[in-house]
This record gives sequence, structure tokens and C-alpha cells, in this order.
Amino acid sequence: MRNLEPIFIENSKVPVVLSKVAPLKIEALSFGWWVWSRREIGTVTRRHETIHFQQQLELLFLFQWILYVLFWVIGLFVYKFDGNKAYRENPFEREAYANDRKTKYLSETRKRYAWINYFWWVSTEGEPSRGRKK
Ligand SMILES: [Zn+2]
Repeated sequence: MRNLEPIFIENSKVPVVLSKVAPLKIEALSFGWWVWSRREIGTVTRRHETIHFQQQLELLFLFQWILYVLFWVIGLFVYKFDGNKAYRENPFEREAYANDRKTKYLSETRKRYAWINYFWWVSTEGEPSRGRKK
């Protein structure tokens, strides 16, 4: 199961349209079995989105979506309604950003439910330091 990847749809209008209603600019997003990207997908983004896909598999999709939104809402309060910061401090995003440049992360290193290690109170790894948004 660790080798499962989502279906990537490049040069899609979906992130462009959603960015108009979301409080941040979306480069790519993962939902269910699909990933929509506004441009062609490089290896880092592919890995980033595949990490999200694995998180969704672990939580039967539905629970990942619920938790993702919940963490974001909590983050909004914690970070004084800074939408970008709330997004970037989400444990699901922190795991993805901390590891999306590691070539062996998905195939060898990653443990099931690894995102649990990225809660605010567990670790500072993956904290925002890069400006990429997705
Ligand atoms: Zn992400």
C-alpha cells in the first residue's frame, strides 16, 4: 500500500477556481484518488501530494478531511486568523513539507500515521520556513 500514488491531473483549472474562494493561493490539491495541479507537477510536489494521499488512506479519506479542516480551524484561532499560517502549521502539511524533498521517504522511511509526530506539541520539524503553498 505504501507504493500507491494518486492520479495526477496537470494544468488543471480546479486549483485556480478554488483559490478565488479559499483564503490562500492553491498550487495543487489532493482529494480522494486525485490531485489537481495548476501546472505540470515536479517531483517534490508529486511527493508532497502523495504524502497527503497516504495520510488519506490511513484515515479512510473521510477522517483525514474532517481532521484537516479541524486542525485548520484550530490554527486560525491559535494564529490569530492568519490563514496561511494556520494552513502551514497543520500537522498534515508539516509532515508533507518536512519530507517532500526526501527521495526515499515514501518508499522506505515513512511509518504509518507519521503525521502524528507533527503535532505542535510533539515536534517543531516541518515548521514553516519555505514559501511554497499547496
Ligand atoms: Zn500540502
